[in-house]
Amino acid sequence: MGRKRGLIRRVDQLGRIVLPMEARKMLHIQEKDGLEILVDTEKGQIILQKVEDSCFLCRSTEDLKEVKDGLFLCRNCIRHLSQE
Ligand SMILES: [Zn+2]
Repeated sequence: MGRKRGLIRRVDQLGRIVLPMEARKMLHIQEKDGLEILVDTEKGQIILQKVEDSCFLCRSTEDLKEVKDGLFLCRNCIRHLSQE
């Protein structure tokens, strides 16, 4: 056995890779979850950071409603907004 390497996945024609099931399980990543893509050109790395959906105004992660693509508001903030 040589040095330890991570899993290698080939990029397809459209630039996609499949995230290994094991990695998805470890981070509880499910369909439609957001991943922030960070590129480090010096190290030749692409880092995928799981993003928790949160309210655009107060950062709460509960009772969220998607008001626009990727933009969430919580029920409290929606209530406050509709009262003004
Ligand atoms: Zn809120």
